[in-house]
Amino acid sequence: MNNSVPEIGSPARTKAILSRYRLVAKKSLGQNFLSDLNILRNIVNAADVTDNDNVIEIGPGIGALTEQIAKRARKVVAFEIDENLLPVLDETLMDYDNVKVINQDILKANLPAVIKDEFEPGHPVKIVANLPYYITTPILMGVLQSGVSFDEIVVMMQREVADRLVAEPGTKAYGSLSVVMQYRAHVEVAFEVPRTAFIPQPNVDSAIIRLTPREPLPVKPYDDQALYKFVKGCFAHRRKTLWNNLQGIFGKQPEVRERIEAVLKDVGISQQLRPERLTLINFIELTNAFHNEGLM
Ligand code: SAM
Repeated sequence: MNNSVPEIGSPARTKAILSRYRLVAKKSLGQNFLSDLNILRNIVNAADVTDNDNVIEIGPGIGALTEQIAKRARKVVAFEIDENLLPVLDETLMDYDNVKVINQDILKANLPAVIKDEFEPGHPVKIVANLPYYITTPILMGVLQSGVSFDEIVVMMQREVADRLVAEPGTKAYGSLSVVMQYRAHVEVAFEVPRTAFIPQPNVDSAIIRLTPREPLPVKPYDDQALYKFVKGCFAHRRKTLWNNLQGIFGKQPEVRERIEAVLKDVGISQQLRPERLTLINFIELTNAFHNEGLM
């Protein structure tokens, strides 16, 4: 690397790249370029990236985070949907021979196949990214359901969404997203990032979330998709009681109400609770109990 050229994520270099390529950040693609070297390095630190790790990045933009990952990782494969950024990345990352950019929508990517084709087996696989915020949830759900077991996922997202991912039962932010994510992974906030760290500045603050494989649960749902659907249904009207929401899911006929009542009694959960009081284990037990009762 030519030492006289500042790194991509420095404000001066970011501005120079944007102006040289006459790039106007596309709001529709969530393009807010992180331009603070300390924060970029701290994201890579949060994922504890070493030269033994293979890393997937989602949305490299002009390459600021990619560069910091490439300096530490074995190999980086970055998915970028915007083809206008390809010539930019070719230039900004030309000194790194361990980077491959794939011009594809991450939501359409076949991650297991890419990992098999691009990465030598036997090394940890991590995801490190400053996500396009408009599709944070579908990306995370897609990644967690892809069947690939990631050693670590460290991603930046809107702070409000991060708050929902880590929320505990009984709090305002706790909802179906918290339950489903916490079912799939151990989730924690690594650190927060102010909007002033980006060019252009977004209207929201951000946070870095770290997802690691979670310890096995004492109970398993009979089917993952059934659990997700059930949790969503329970939170359909979060101000109403669990009892009301369950009738919304299964129906209000006297015979159905009796069966709902019996299941709640069996599992030991009060009808009058609001859905945000239920723990992940409660949701799993209820899913299985309603399944055994023949209601789902
Ligand atoms: N990594 C860069 C950084 O930290 O400055 C840019 C992050 S920017 C918040 C999000 C990036 O994701 C943009 O480069 C955008 O073009 C890209 N992107 C948006 N939707 C995408 C999708 N469906 N698949 C892949 N990349 C996408």
